[in-house]
Amino acid sequence: MRPVLPFPFSESDPIRHPGPPPQASDVVIIGGGVIGVTTALFLAKRNISVTLVEKGRIAAEQSSRNWGWIRKQGRDADELPIVIEACRLWQQLAEECGEDIGLAETGVTYLARSEKDMAKFDTFMKIAADHALDTRLLASEETARLFKGISQRYAGAMTTPSDLRAEPWIAVPALARLAARLGVTIVENCAARTLDLSAGRVSGVWTEKGRVATSTVLVAGGAWSSLFLRKHGVSIPQLSVRATVAATGPLPEIHAGAAADAHVAFRRRQDGGYTLAPGGSSLLYLGPDAFRHSIKYLPALMANPFGVCYLPAAPASYPDSWSTPREWTPDSVSPFEKMRILDPAPERSGLQSIERGFRQLFPQFETVPIKASWAGMIDAMPDVVPVVDRAQSIAGLFVATGMSGHGFGIGPGIGRVVADMIQGNDIGHNLHRFRLSRFSDGSTLRLGPAL
Ligand SMILES: Cc1cc2nc3c(=O)[nH]c(=O)nc-3n(C[C@H](O)[C@H](O)[C@H](O)COP(=O)(O)OP(=O)(O)OC[C@H]3O[C@@H](n4cnc5c(N)ncnc54)[C@H](O)[C@@H]3O)c2cc1C
Repeated sequence: MRPVLPFPFSESDPIRHPGPPPQASDVVIIGGGVIGVTTALFLAKRNISVTLVEKGRIAAEQSSRNWGWIRKQGRDADELPIVIEACRLWQQLAEECGEDIGLAETGVTYLARSEKDMAKFDTFMKIAADHALDTRLLASEETARLFKGISQRYAGAMTTPSDLRAEPWIAVPALARLAARLGVTIVENCAARTLDLSAGRVSGVWTEKGRVATSTVLVAGGAWSSLFLRKHGVSIPQLSVRATVAATGPLPEIHAGAAADAHVAFRRRQDGGYTLAPGGSSLLYLGPDAFRHSIKYLPALMANPFGVCYLPAAPASYPDSWSTPREWTPDSVSPFEKMRILDPAPERSGLQSIERGFRQLFPQFETVPIKASWAGMIDAMPDVVPVVDRAQSIAGLFVATGMSGHGFGIGPGIGRVVADMIQGNDIGHNLHRFRLSRFSDGSTLRLGPAL
């Protein structure tokens, strides 16, 4: 068994991809999370020169802090074809990278405490049938048999045995190494400050390590995308919420896959521990963007009024902090390099409830040894589905962001799609739902499943 890694990543970790950035590149990708890394990888496979700049370390923000669930279950109908493809790509990339990323087909299960909860599964069961997924409903006894020693008697569950898991903080850096071997120039500790525009189109990117000439830029900056884009007149109503996670040390196996009810979520890890989280609650810091975009978020808040808690202000240097500058120049320090790694403190009461909830569920564990805890800022859109599009106002600018709490699993699918979009190829999926203009063209937003 592999030991639990020192986690989360921090600025004191060695820079594994020092660069330097080249003077010119066909494509520049801003952001070294799963979206930026996999897009780079698919472009490099087509012999396109790619430079990926990352202000901190590869995967140091959301792409290593997530639960590691790769799920088709519970997906929005428009995302599902892409995530089905992503599951195939995960298998393929795991082989190509030649490293053990902890990929395993161990299933995802949603537990229902009541018949009312069971009824909520109906919508996805219909979507699953349309796509011939192996998703099925379990009765109460069958649910109990899935988890060794579980104390709670559930009304039943919905499960998708073919869903996957992987170790995010191993997987995304491994894919970055594969991308680098395929020729991608990755530059860590290198913030993109601004776009260089000529006659309304992209002609380069100003980074803190100089200018890279290019005709094509992808913004895949996670929680920072809105701040970067707004500087160039592209407005996306993106907000971020804090979510707390804990990792136990090795424990006897009670279930090999991932499962959640309304109170606790857990996933078996490759090292024999469990990654735990409190179910369904997150924290939003109220900054200028939160006020600016509040109307657009009303439907999501009304659908899940108690899912989000609020604090009046984000810590200094957060993307939507009151003191974060909204204006800077190519030759001045930008907000991106002021905060190389967004590393929110985990919520103490959340950690206690995680530990208590897991122990109550599995009373055979007299103690649950918590070995690490962390939090991440989940970047979300008002309709809980991402933006994957080209920017109409700036030729050569592409955006793939706002993955809304489920971008790890779908990551390689989005990466492949964006690589084809950049090349002008047939994408193979309908991306209308994910267009940028849906927030400004008067469309009624259709809510995807909750975060
Ligand atoms: C606690 C938690 C649990 C989650 N659980 C799951 C799960 O189980 N399954 C799932 O599918 N998803 C999950 N998610 C969501 C998933 O992790 C994200 O949707 C996904 O990682 C987003 O990837 P990304 O590449 O868009 O962004 P990120 O991983 O956030 O990467 C963006 C990168 O861009 C860099 N950057 C930003 N601006 C600049 C700039 N100007 N210059 C250079 N670099 C820049 C940042 O430093 C960052 O590294 C979870 C997220 C969290 C936080």
